[in-house]
Amino acid sequence: TDSITTPIRTPEDADAALRPKSLAEFVGQAAARENLRIFIEAAKARGDALDHVLFFGPPGLGKTTLAQIVARELGVGFRSTSGPVIAKAGDLAALLTNLEDGDVLFIDEIHRLAPAVEEILYPAMEDRALDIMIGEGPSARSVRIDLPKFTLVGATTRQGLLTTPLRDRFGIPVRLNFYTHAELEQVIGRAARLLGLAIASDGALEIAKRSRGTPRIAGRLLRRVRDFATVAGAATVGAKVADAALNRLEVDALGLDAMDRRYLTMIADIYGGGPVGVETLAAGLSEPRDTIEDVIEPYLLQIGLIARTARGRCLNASAWKHLGISPPTGTQD
Ligand code: ADP
Repeated sequence: TDSITTPIRTPEDADAALRPKSLAEFVGQAAARENLRIFIEAAKARGDALDHVLFFGPPGLGKTTLAQIVARELGVGFRSTSGPVIAKAGDLAALLTNLEDGDVLFIDEIHRLAPAVEEILYPAMEDRALDIMIGEGPSARSVRIDLPKFTLVGATTRQGLLTTPLRDRFGIPVRLNFYTHAELEQVIGRAARLLGLAIASDGALEIAKRSRGTPRIAGRLLRRVRDFATVAGAATVGAKVADAALNRLEVDALGLDAMDRRYLTMIADIYGGGPVGVETLAAGLSEPRDTIEDVIEPYLLQIGLIARTARGRCLNASAWKHLGISPPTGTQD
């Protein structure tokens, strides 16, 4: 209903409500979590700011969540912005000079910083200083301003998207990997508790298997499955209810959605299984190349449906099988 006493949540709000708040609450990424725990403890013991951290990995794996957790575990302030939002060097300078000692500054999509903005970051990260040019022409001079001892936490989909000088200035690079079904089952169980939803373990597993290894997708599918369960009058979400709901949402048994299937079908039908270049696929699918490389392909590579070769993308035997088409003769896996 539209009652003003029922605030309607945006998807972002719902996301935020499910965010784990501490390293202990954060499921999966065991190696990353353990390393962070040690570096945070050491920085606290020394009374120092934590070294700069770079999180990289596909969208929805918990980069923003971990950045917030790092600040909370350090007991410092958290400021957040993103690469494309910072238009001018002066905008970043203003952000940096407003930080307090120890603060975490989170820059999402840090690979999308303008070059002139990125240059401000080098001395800021290395010497915790800003070099500002005053005046113009022959009388111009550079003035150095000291910055508070802050920690920069950057997030990006692929480490290779960063320029080398920027990448080299992160002391703590952390790769995030796709989650296992068991880990996603835990993520879903936790989210269901927070949503006040009764879910059976086979229901959670069914959603986990179809979440593309990604907690954000698991959370989103859980909310949609809940809608179907509510309308169907199911008191508990079991495997059957989850399966029916996910089929209606056109999420297949491997968790692939319509876009994934379009991608695979294009390579199969038009390019005989590949190899085909990413630019060609991007044009054929009318999707930006970044979306193909950062959103669609990582999971398809992870589950072995496709292979990336020097000459382009190829379907593996399992992809043909999944599509239910037989490969042209002579195709090898
Ligand atoms: P990214 O910044 O990598 O795109 P986010 O940190 O925004 O991803 O995470 C997306 C959503 O997934 C979050 O709102 C959070 O609810 C959920 N999430 C991510 N990682 C975990 C985790 N390890 N455990 C539980 N929930 C998680």
